[in-house]
Amino acid sequence: MSFLAPDFTPAWSRFTADRVEPDIIAALADAQARFDAIATQNPANLTYASVLGAFDEAAATLDRAWTRVQHLDTVCNAPALRIAHNAMLPKVTDFYTRIYLHEGLWKVIQAYATTPNARALAGARRRFLEETLADFRDSGAELPPADKKELERLNTEISANTQKFSENVLDATNAWELVVTEEGRLIGLPESARAAARQSFQQKNPDLTAQPGWRFTLHAPSYLPLMKYAQDDALRRQVWQAAANIGRVAPHDNTVLIPKILELRHAKARLLGRAQFADLVLHRRMAKSGAGALTFIEKLHDQLVPAFLREQRDLEEFKGTRSGPPPGPLEPWETLFWSEQLRQAKLDFDEELLRPYLPIEGVLCGLFKLVETIFDVRLVARPTVYFEPGSGEVAPAGTVEVWHPEVKFYELHDKDGRHLGSFYADWHPRESKRGGAWMNYFETGGPRPHGKFVPHLGIIAGNLTAPVAGQQALLTHDEVCTIFHEFGHLLHHLLGEVEVKSLNGVRVTWDFVELPSQIMENWVWERAGLDFVARHHETGAPLPEEIFKKMRATRSFLAATGMMRMAAFSKMDLDAHLHADELTKRQPLPDLEVWLRTRLASYLPRYHTEPPSFAPRFTHVFSEPVGYAAGYYSYKWAEVLDADAFTRFQKEGLLNPATGGDFRRKVLARGNSAPPEQLFRDFMGRDPDPSADLARCGLLS
Ligand SMILES: [Zn+2]
Repeated sequence: MSFLAPDFTPAWSRFTADRVEPDIIAALADAQARFDAIATQNPANLTYASVLGAFDEAAATLDRAWTRVQHLDTVCNAPALRIAHNAMLPKVTDFYTRIYLHEGLWKVIQAYATTPNARALAGARRRFLEETLADFRDSGAELPPADKKELERLNTEISANTQKFSENVLDATNAWELVVTEEGRLIGLPESARAAARQSFQQKNPDLTAQPGWRFTLHAPSYLPLMKYAQDDALRRQVWQAAANIGRVAPHDNTVLIPKILELRHAKARLLGRAQFADLVLHRRMAKSGAGALTFIEKLHDQLVPAFLREQRDLEEFKGTRSGPPPGPLEPWETLFWSEQLRQAKLDFDEELLRPYLPIEGVLCGLFKLVETIFDVRLVARPTVYFEPGSGEVAPAGTVEVWHPEVKFYELHDKDGRHLGSFYADWHPRESKRGGAWMNYFETGGPRPHGKFVPHLGIIAGNLTAPVAGQQALLTHDEVCTIFHEFGHLLHHLLGEVEVKSLNGVRVTWDFVELPSQIMENWVWERAGLDFVARHHETGAPLPEEIFKKMRATRSFLAATGMMRMAAFSKMDLDAHLHADELTKRQPLPDLEVWLRTRLASYLPRYHTEPPSFAPRFTHVFSEPVGYAAGYYSYKWAEVLDADAFTRFQKEGLLNPATGGDFRRKVLARGNSAPPEQLFRDFMGRDPDPSADLARCGLLS
């Protein structure tokens, strides 16, 4: 099967590395021909369908093929595939960039924009015209030829350097492991983390399964419990040191890539007439400029400072009383551990108590029921099959082929039976899979001419606690929040009702895109929401009220510290991008570590040992050409939006399908078919209340 095959659910085992090059080259040629056809049409007969409609569809096959290649590179990373992917990456990036530098296309779209037909456009079509004109301008369509060439070069370089950054983090993470052979060193570690470390050791050392051994890695499900619970200070220090070194040690050194990426991005912004890369990225987002985003973060910082300092003092004093004087700053490998100790002492709550109530099957089943209730939809699982790559087998009728035996497949239907979309779910870590959790889409459906509706296709993936010894995985509350979060992104795509593909679902501005995902997390903190997902994996009992109450109290525990951490990441991102000249041109070059530490001084907790900067493993900001670059603040920005929007559910009923329906129709269904400010106003009847986020965490004085 070709990567171009139009099948809604493809035969993943046929997508072998050797197919990547010929298929992507064919897809590029197909897309080129379609764009050329738009550009060379008779200028006397320009219509919406022949210009913008055709433009929306022209790269559909290339999008489909390339998304599949990238997806496999993300979930089944292997040397041959990585080589094939990287060989095509510059060609594909270059192609997508050149669309907006296609002179004939630009002329036709501009010509169309002046026709009476274009001037009469309304709704999503009007928005599409405006967005397309702005996309062309932001991509350099109005530049003289020499500058266009330079822009192409910059884009290719940015793409190659950010890809390398991302690989360095993955490789450095995988390159490290620690095998503990004395069980005594694991004191404090919960049973779930011990069992996982034991299983990991046995899988890696099939000849030594009888010997004592617990294997730890830098992947979150292994790393976090150890940092949080292990009483052995030296052990935590060793693991923390390894994590802190990600991206800063050869051969996976990202410290040299950061100034390079900043310089390239800055040069691109200047070429396009913007003072800073942050302004280029933000001028069409809700924040409007780098300065606008920075003001938002600095205001948040100022509001947080008193509570942040108080929380820090509490933590230091607590450690002092427990481990003896001298009290003073903690070590960076102590923070998670002592925070957890303080939490247990203050709230008498061990979040591991929740795990037995959060078996993955029950959580997913509950999430589905909740979503069905609020948004008036139906979710159905479909049987899946897995074949070894290249095996040539064919999935039996009624089954869906997946890329790994653990992957599940579901369909989403409207109450009246309309098939809205489908999705894959790939939940547990593998070495060949990238870290974190994410949602992506393979197909964008939506309403089509003649009243037809085409279903969407998406994927939701994570690195959740893996099942141990044949038992289903028992999750943490945090992991359940992650599932809900990514499911919100997925619903944004699957519930899209926009006729223009490029404006559907998650293709909204970055500072709006986290509203649908983050609002979902609110239900995991409410009794009404938890009753859907939390059932004891053996007894089926609901979560006891006492545990629930204690869990609720954790929401405001060290809340200012958590928020300040997000503010620090946001400031690091914005400062680096707003001072690219200083960081890359001034002689001698400032030391990025020192520079960041100075600027972030009041944002960071004080430590006994100064931790190195997080920048060399800041994949959100440096592992994609744009990604979250100059946009990390959007998490906090969207928290204001989601905390505020959720107050409507709190007033009208957490399971109220009328409120859910309103959110679906006015926000989820509309993608980017209207400015985000307007979508928010349509749902809430007013602008966002900036204090909603602090109020939710009890930080409003
Ligand atoms: Zn998200």
